[in-house]
Amino acid sequence: MLELRAITAGYDRRTPVVRDFSLTVTPGEAVGLLGPSGCGKSTLARVTALLHRPDSGTLLLDGEPVRHWRHRAPREQRTAFGVVFQQPRLSADPRLRLTDLIAEPLRATGRSAEVPDRVAELAATVGLTPDLLARRPHEVSDGQLQRVCLARALVLRPRWLICDEMTAMLDASTSAALVAVVEDYRRTTGASLLAVGHDRTLLQRWCNRTVHWDGRRKDVSAR
Ligand code: ADP
Repeated sequence: MLELRAITAGYDRRTPVVRDFSLTVTPGEAVGLLGPSGCGKSTLARVTALLHRPDSGTLLLDGEPVRHWRHRAPREQRTAFGVVFQQPRLSADPRLRLTDLIAEPLRATGRSAEVPDRVAELAATVGLTPDLLARRPHEVSDGQLQRVCLARALVLRPRWLICDEMTAMLDASTSAALVAVVEDYRRTTGASLLAVGHDRTLLQRWCNRTVHWDGRRKDVSAR
């Protein structure tokens, strides 16, 4: 269970971009967070994934309040989240080969022995052919790089997936393929999803429930 209670967050304490936001994501549930550009959806996604410390409010993971964010968060909490952002080029180290980008979380957690099998398995899952894996980010398309970012997000088998405008830069067929990968993963693992976006049709088709947030209202409505 993932619970955001009265979260206020931003980049300057005097003018928070998110005020008093509450949301619960139950185990296995897919929740869409819908709202106009600039209303604070990405900020909320980053707070939820333990990447941005809120100014106030509480984030509970299975009833336990989170006390630390970013590198100070306990490893078992950090690795329970898989996150995919809108722009793959901003979240992929341009010096690394695709295979090493996917393997990075395994190596960082002392699980290098699993790298060959897990990278091959995930590359097939997200639709990356073996010849692509030796390339670097500038040698592949945005769609191919986003496939890499999704594989990397899944490599530690997270319980919670946060997809922040994951398909906003992609063509329709790549978008559909990546959503299908997320849904297959959720079906087999029971993982929950928070999908952030501004595309109402996509989120309503993808998620069990869609929350509309305009950045001001205290109580969000589920439709
Ligand atoms: P959304 O995802 O809904 O488009 P964001 O959470 O990205 O909204 O941004 C909300 C507001 O916070 C915007 O006004 C944006 O300019 C500002 N903002 C986002 N990231 C930063 C940052 N790192 N530093 C300062 N302001 C930021």
